[in-house]
Amino acid sequence: MSKASDFADRFKVTKGKNFKLKDWDPSDTLNFDDKEQAEKILAQGVDRLAKLQDKLYADNRWSLLLIFQAMDAAGKDGTIKHVMSGINPQGCQVFSFKNPSSEELEHDFLWRTTKSLPERGRIGIFNRSYYEEVLVVKVHPEYLGKQQLHKSLIGKDVWKHRYESIADFEKHLTRNGTIVRKFFLNVSKKEQKERFLKRLDDPERNWKFSDADVAERQHWDAYQDAYQELIRETSTKESPWYVVPADHKWFSRVVVASAIIATLESLDLEFPVVTEAQKARVAEARKLLEAEAKGKG
Ligand code: ATP
Ligand code: MG
Repeated sequence: MSKASDFADRFKVTKGKNFKLKDWDPSDTLNFDDKEQAEKILAQGVDRLAKLQDKLYADNRWSLLLIFQAMDAAGKDGTIKHVMSGINPQGCQVFSFKNPSSEELEHDFLWRTTKSLPERGRIGIFNRSYYEEVLVVKVHPEYLGKQQLHKSLIGKDVWKHRYESIADFEKHLTRNGTIVRKFFLNVSKKEQKERFLKRLDDPERNWKFSDADVAERQHWDAYQDAYQELIRETSTKESPWYVVPADHKWFSRVVVASAIIATLESLDLEFPVVTEAQKARVAEARKLLEAEAKGKG
């Protein structure tokens, strides 16, 4: 990959104030017109990522939280699978957040995700996240009714309060060494329909089809508005959103890989320095092993 930030910065939102989702083309592929070229670049990116992850793990001062949000069939699962394919599973964990359980509904809306934050030196991936609280819950406000909140807490400012809580929480994470990067895989309504139809036509993809997804599609415009609003309210220099064009999966993978590489490269990661005392212990251990080998022939 030439320079990772060249690809990623083009899709990064650090100041959301005037953000308009309709200005972002889901079928954008920059100057790539060739899937094979993109796949070669992705393969190089995956290697680079593996090396950076080793260093992140050894350095053990930072953690990286990657949040993925999207409409159904935008390619969250495939992106996570391909981009992270080269990295050491010990340093990475994926959490998927679905309908909250009754235990989760007994707590504030940041509780369940907080428990799954990455340790130092690790990469944590959230496949959906607390952003569902200003997406699906905003599109279906009756879900608020299940959250055991007093009516005085769910007035007209409830969404504003949630954006504030999220922005404050991410600021807190950043200040404490957890770097947050957020990816909205921006698929078009037309492409989503084609992917749903493919799932119906192909028996091997049938299992991926859910009639609930088609029901949610009926709320497309409300979701787009909710995405636009949350990107406006929660994009910062420290924890930006990437609005990733997702009509071409091969391109969205390059953008996501580039963004992660650029982020890790900005962290000034270092392998721990070996002290003189440690060097002496290494020399001692070598002597012992060599003596053993001689003794046993
Ligand atoms: P896939 O379909 O690829 O398995 P998915 O992420 O779409 O992955 P589903 O089980 O289909 O998983 O959907 C999870 C559902 O849970 C989504 O409709 C999402 O909006 C919903 N969900 C997630 N978080 C919340 C929340 N906090 N409150 C209400 N619903 C939520
Ligand atoms: Mg689904």
